[in-house]
Amino acid sequence: MSVLANLTDALLSGSIEVIDLTAPLSSDTPLLELPPEFGQTAQFQLEEISNYDDRGPAWYWNNFRTGEHTGTHFDAPIHWVTGRDKDDISEVPVSAFVAPAVVIDVTAEVEKDPNFVIEKEHLDAFQQEHGPFPQGGWLLCHTGWSSRTTQETMINNTETGPNSPGMSVDCARWAAEESVLQGIGVETIGTDAGAAHSFEPPFPCHAFFLGANKYGLAQLQNLDMLPPTGAVVVASPLKIVKGSGSPVRVLALIES
Ligand code: MN
Repeated sequence: MSVLANLTDALLSGSIEVIDLTAPLSSDTPLLELPPEFGQTAQFQLEEISNYDDRGPAWYWNNFRTGEHTGTHFDAPIHWVTGRDKDDISEVPVSAFVAPAVVIDVTAEVEKDPNFVIEKEHLDAFQQEHGPFPQGGWLLCHTGWSSRTTQETMINNTETGPNSPGMSVDCARWAAEESVLQGIGVETIGTDAGAAHSFEPPFPCHAFFLGANKYGLAQLQNLDMLPPTGAVVVASPLKIVKGSGSPVRVLALIES
């Protein structure tokens, strides 16, 4: 039997399960907040065209407005200045959209410290336990942050700014420049820690991953349903010409 026939059989029998890693996309979806001197990304908004009414008696449809980085989304390399000459979202090779994933669980650490950052030692310990990272794989950071579904709890502002978990500068540099990974996936509003504006360099996950022509996935959910290794992630963004990113429906295939 062919590999693909085995796959469709396994999907039909339920021995391979499809998990939705995507947050609902609506005007309630939490949004990145930048200091007021910078441009701001747009909330997701539906604008009704017709609803089986005078404007269209037999059809319901909408226009929508959204930021490229609103809700569960894919960061293209061109999003960051370090990747300005690299791929826009329409140029990312489709082979990146179906990729293996490993899931590092730091929920206990984040529960104690919302500003917890993953260090290179945590990745070393993961690989000691579970084997080497898969070539071209995603590193998904399971922080538990996706239980925070409101603007206030997701951003978690204090007088020092946003407080949310992420990755250290050295760890991001290693993962982007030396590891076989193709990108990082997170549950938070963006791939960097809330306090990453004060890191040196600032926003290291953006700077190093996108600068290395690698990728980011943000605002993922249901990472608790994935095994540490063995999942396959399907994350296929809109083919927006010159786009810096795109909302995306992210799925994971797991063996049940
Ligand atoms: Mn983004």
